[in-house]
Amino acid sequence: MGYVKGLKCRECGREYSVDPIYVCEFCFGPLEVAYDLEGIKKVLTREKIQSRPQNLWRYIELLPIDGAPTSGLHSGYTPLVRADKLAVHLGMKELYIKDDTVTHPTLSFKDRVVAVALSKAREFGFDTVACASTGNLAHSVSAHGAAAGFKRFIFIPASLERSKIIASLAYEPNLIAVDGNYDDVNRLCSEVANKYRWAFVNINIRPFYAEGSKTQGYEIVEQLGWRSPDAVVVPCASGSLLTKIWKSFKEMHEIGIIDEVQTKVFSAQATGCSPIVKAIKDDVDVIKPVKPDTIAKSLAIGNPADGFYATQVIKESSGFGADVSDSEIVDAIKLLAKTEGIFAETAGGVTLASAIQLIESGHIDKDACTVLSITGNGLKTKEAITGHVEEPYHIDPNLKSFEETLKMINSK
Ligand SMILES: *Cc1c(COP(=O)(O)O)cnc(C)c1O
Ligand SMILES: [Zn+2]
Repeated sequence: MGYVKGLKCRECGREYSVDPIYVCEFCFGPLEVAYDLEGIKKVLTREKIQSRPQNLWRYIELLPIDGAPTSGLHSGYTPLVRADKLAVHLGMKELYIKDDTVTHPTLSFKDRVVAVALSKAREFGFDTVACASTGNLAHSVSAHGAAAGFKRFIFIPASLERSKIIASLAYEPNLIAVDGNYDDVNRLCSEVANKYRWAFVNINIRPFYAEGSKTQGYEIVEQLGWRSPDAVVVPCASGSLLTKIWKSFKEMHEIGIIDEVQTKVFSAQATGCSPIVKAIKDDVDVIKPVKPDTIAKSLAIGNPADGFYATQVIKESSGFGADVSDSEIVDAIKLLAKTEGIFAETAGGVTLASAIQLIESGHIDKDACTVLSITGNGLKTKEAITGHVEEPYHIDPNLKSFEETLKMINSK
């Protein structure tokens, strides 16, 4: 079992064996998992995938573990919702929501990456897992790590939403709140990772962790009836998910499962933290780090590790980017809830609000089969819309009081 050839430097192409490492010793480029796609092509078919249980491991040949998975056995295979009411609202023909608000068990797409990272950490023989998180990763590593019996060290910016801190604490990890933003947390974690033999899922295990994001793309392809969409809008923090969705479409083509890929890939960011979109709009290759200031905390990475690669994918695919204000985010969260019955966290608001801009500006064609990657659940960031929703009607416990209110509602 296992079709992994090794790790490969994205910059100089130098090859490494499979180890908990993440940078090239020669050029400091990031390492990525390389597969024997020819070998996979010989064994993997649509029918074979369809015959397997509905979780992210149905694409196991394309994931970097050697044996049977040990984490996230119920993660992934979230609904692809045909969003006809929202489509009418936006004047679109064929619009879908990839609904990772219901990912098992922590309601964000991070369960995909953590499932793969912890399965790999177990294969490497680690007993402690750790992460630097903008919120959802903390929640997911806390949960999956508990179920798999790892010791857990979770590092977060102290200013994180209270809901996400409490959600993580429920699993009793060692939660370390750092006085600083995510980029400070990440820097500290790199130092800690150098010193302690822990599996930092998004540092020394990052090449394996990041592969988990591909499963969102495979599922989109399968759920569209084995084709890639014309356009996909992806929220960006480090930029990893965006690059991996693209990689997943390409791989599906390379192993002969779908036709040529013509998808345009679009990046969605909050204006208060939009280094990737800014580079795209300015048409430059260098990502200029920013200090984040946005309610979309799960996307608040000012110095995105995969930012450069994200811009390359966007260019190669003829996509573009959009950035949106906090009030556009709140409006979009409410629009998605009201039209499709899906309550997304702030990152989902960023994706929909960005899509609206891109449709209005003509970057996304109204006839294009378009998928919005909605990555986290609204229950995780209730703070964001508090004060932006109406109050309930307050009544006395009798019919008269109710009917007075009903009259008032009907006359509105
Ligand atoms: C982490 C995260 C993302 C984006 O992650 P990348 O670092 O760009 O891969 C998107 N949405 C949510 C809700 C997240 O938690
Ligand atoms: Zn290199």
